[in-house]
Amino acid sequence: MPVSSAATTAPSAISATSTSTSIAAASAADFDALRRQDPELAEVILGETARQSDSLQLIAAENFTSPAVLAALGSPLANKYAEGYPGARHHSGCELVDAAERIAVDRATALFGAEHANVQPHSGSSAVLAAYAALLRPGDTVLAMGLAFGGHLTHGSPANFSGRWFSFVPYGVDAETGLLDYDQIRRLARENRPKAIVCGSTSYPRHPDYAAFREIADEVGAYLIADAAHPMGLIAGGVAPSPVPYADVVCATTHKVLRGPRGGMVLCGSHLAERIDRAVFPFTQGGAQMHTIAAKAVAFGEASTPAYASYTHLVVANARVLADALAAEDFAITTGGTDTHLITADPAPLGVDGRTARGRLSAAGLVLDTCALPYGDGRGIRLGTAALTTQGMGQAEMARIAVLFSAALRAEGDEIRRVREEVRELARRFPPY
Ligand SMILES: *Cc1c(COP(=O)(O)O)cnc(C)c1O
Repeated sequence: MPVSSAATTAPSAISATSTSTSIAAASAADFDALRRQDPELAEVILGETARQSDSLQLIAAENFTSPAVLAALGSPLANKYAEGYPGARHHSGCELVDAAERIAVDRATALFGAEHANVQPHSGSSAVLAAYAALLRPGDTVLAMGLAFGGHLTHGSPANFSGRWFSFVPYGVDAETGLLDYDQIRRLARENRPKAIVCGSTSYPRHPDYAAFREIADEVGAYLIADAAHPMGLIAGGVAPSPVPYADVVCATTHKVLRGPRGGMVLCGSHLAERIDRAVFPFTQGGAQMHTIAAKAVAFGEASTPAYASYTHLVVANARVLADALAAEDFAITTGGTDTHLITADPAPLGVDGRTARGRLSAAGLVLDTCALPYGDGRGIRLGTAALTTQGMGQAEMARIAVLFSAALRAEGDEIRRVREEVRELARRFPPY
């Protein structure tokens, strides 16, 4: 039985053969009208909907939103201009979108126990940009996880504003254990006296020790910014520790395990509220996306239910089972397992590197990312169980998926087609919508 409210209220599945828009019934959007007016684009949307339901989505940052979230996203709130904040907009006619944003903010602060929430960032990266804009000046030194160890682009990549405008000092993980090395972080903090320390990663499968980060930040007089883009949904469900009591500012996405619309948010104490709000608008963004903010409110409402808490328990239980099963198929699991939705692994023992593995797995309908490994230049694979768990999959399916991984990587010639067919059959037993 699917655990998500999405799955329990969803209409029948959308399959590759049936392009009838059952999704339209669950959404404010009129897919039949789209198909009549623009068959070319409708075909693309329906094709992507079919792709999501007949392959397995193991990208750790992805999930399936509920039809209620999709309905809010496809609603006429998309038409409304709303620069500013509730009660203080630069446009008239904002009474109802003000109500939507107030609901989103109230639900976010209650869900995460934060004094202040800004729900306007268009993405997780925009949330991080706003946090830096609120606390730092160009040229300031920032200590963050190095990109080669799982730091995000916004943690100092030269290709990103962060690396261009700030002076980043990278910390890593222990090459042997893959775990954060707090002695190294403390030493680098003492040597470099950063203005801010960022904790958070795109691929760390364990819980950061937020108290240890706080202690180090206090010792050198730095702000602590938690980039909880990945674990935020687990925090909401109570299966991961919260950075809110420790960090000055918490940045997050709303579309990963949290299962809301694509977007970001920032949480902080009351004393930083005004600085954060100004850093989001007008400093780094223009008009707020009110349909997305309404969808965030819906997702926060869903995430405060017991059903969602059970979902997050299952996400972690599934990830642990999948990690163990992959280890039994000879994958080298970084840190030896996981405490979260996320697994990183080196497929080298199966004779392939991360890039080759991603290609072969994708050909079999197993969709995931490559990632940095704690040692050397080689790449590993990164996967997560948030989407599979929303579909209602459990431990038996995780064990099956590990066998399919190994079959896909060992397949020769035409054998990959048989694996692809098995993946399709499995996926179709658990329709996301
Ligand atoms: C996903 C992620 C982001 C950015 O999210 P976008 O919405 O893609 O901009 C930022 N930081 C971390 C650690 C992430 O994992």
